[in-house]
Amino acid sequence: MPKKHTHYDVIIIGAGPAGFASAIRCAQLGLKVACIDNWRNKKGQSRLGGSHLNTGGIASMTLLESAKIYHQLNHEIAKHGIHAGAVSIDIPLMIQRKDKIIDEIGHKMADLLAHHKIDRIQAKARLLNTRQVEIIVTEPGAHSILDAEHIILATGSTPVKLACAPIDNEFILDSIAALNLDEVPKKLAIIGAGVVGLELASIWNRLGAETILLEAQENFLSLLDQQISREAYRTYSHQGLDLRLGARVISAKKGNKKVTLEYQDQEGTHTLRVDKLIVATGRKPNSGELAAPEADLLLDENGYVYVDDNCRTNLPGVYAIGDLTLLGPMLAHKGIEEGVFVAELIAGLHNPINYDNLPSVIYTEPEIAWVGQTEQALRASGESIKIGIYPLTATVRALALGKAEGMVKIIAHSENDKILGVHIIGTQASELIAEAVLAMEFSASSEDLARTIHARPTLSEAVHDAALALKDRSLHLFEGKLV
Ligand code: NAD
Repeated sequence: MPKKHTHYDVIIIGAGPAGFASAIRCAQLGLKVACIDNWRNKKGQSRLGGSHLNTGGIASMTLLESAKIYHQLNHEIAKHGIHAGAVSIDIPLMIQRKDKIIDEIGHKMADLLAHHKIDRIQAKARLLNTRQVEIIVTEPGAHSILDAEHIILATGSTPVKLACAPIDNEFILDSIAALNLDEVPKKLAIIGAGVVGLELASIWNRLGAETILLEAQENFLSLLDQQISREAYRTYSHQGLDLRLGARVISAKKGNKKVTLEYQDQEGTHTLRVDKLIVATGRKPNSGELAAPEADLLLDENGYVYVDDNCRTNLPGVYAIGDLTLLGPMLAHKGIEEGVFVAELIAGLHNPINYDNLPSVIYTEPEIAWVGQTEQALRASGESIKIGIYPLTATVRALALGKAEGMVKIIAHSENDKILGVHIIGTQASELIAEAVLAMEFSASSEDLARTIHARPTLSEAVHDAALALKDRSLHLFEGKLV
């Protein structure tokens, strides 16, 4: 066991995307760093990467890719003139593949920490005061109290529980157990049609489960540009997702290897019997046991750690990043940027994050991705705007792929032409949005995008064409419509 320091320049609690990025950047800047994390995988092995890698975004994405292949074999390849024999499915093998990929990424992260001479401590830690961290579960040879000049809190978030649907992870599952099923449920209900609910629905529906989403809100994906939400609702419904809006679940009970749940909508109370129920009703910050009471770390009433615009908590030298704070949405890439930002701040650099240009993605098929403001928000604030929309049905690459559902929508200021928002629903939207983010980061106008040469045939032509459509200069649309 290598001798551990007791004094560091920086101690980071949490090795999810935010904490890990911060640790590496601190080390690059010459700081002596300890990174403390208590995650163990289902075999009890310590793992870096936090929930994003182990039970969230990457785990979910890995299964979604498997589900897409299965769906293509069953429903899409015949159109290409390809016929396969009977296609069967082995869910345990699919889950094993996911776990193997997670393991590989976790090992690479561990190698990187070691390469940067960052002390990795497998333990639960809590903040004692502005300079000290207590190690609660010690490994042999580790000190129980560590000192640092700066402490970064990056303990992430966990799924919220719903009192009316108690999780047993056999029949009523949280979003973690929902990525570890050993067979496809015949009939599946999901509470919550937010990002997590939709991504899980996209996996299990593609693998053959009859999938019902129960969403308390009347408005589907209310934070999105409403034109994109309407398109998403239409597309998902067409794919067979049973989306019930304004449906608030009030009880869920298991019995006879089924779950019986009750929900209320405008028409009254309804009963539904399903094989499995997934609860995907949001996440909450992991701040409960993060600090000793005498540390006086300021939290809000929902447990978010109070921070200023520079991720500084109320305690000098103590920072909070990622899902722990309300500074921007709960997104892995937001946490990563904050991790880098705080590391640089500690090293005397100040490179602020532009939260206005933060991309968001929903990893369904088709994907949804956006950056900047929505049409409804801009209209509500009285902004003078113009809009260019380009359907993927007019994009030759999308037609060749057989994935021509969706559109690119660009919103620009009417007078100065500055791009204010880009909203995409369609295959590879997560990749296409990067161009929009870069354009907005450089304060581009829609004319800049329209004058940028895009390779043909590519999906990115749809972004170019939406910019042209905004100026009524589309080469492929007739008065804004397909010829
Ligand atoms: P969410 O808040 O986006 O959605 C939860 C939904 O559950 C809400 O729409 C809510 O109205 C509904 N709900 C709550 N109680 C209900 C009830 N009793 N009956 C019916 N509906 C009910 O939360 P989420 O989807 O769990 O996501 C959590 C966070 O994680 C979000 O901030 C999300 O952005 C983030 N996340 C992002 C990604 C990504 O970037 N692709 C992936 C996973 C999670």
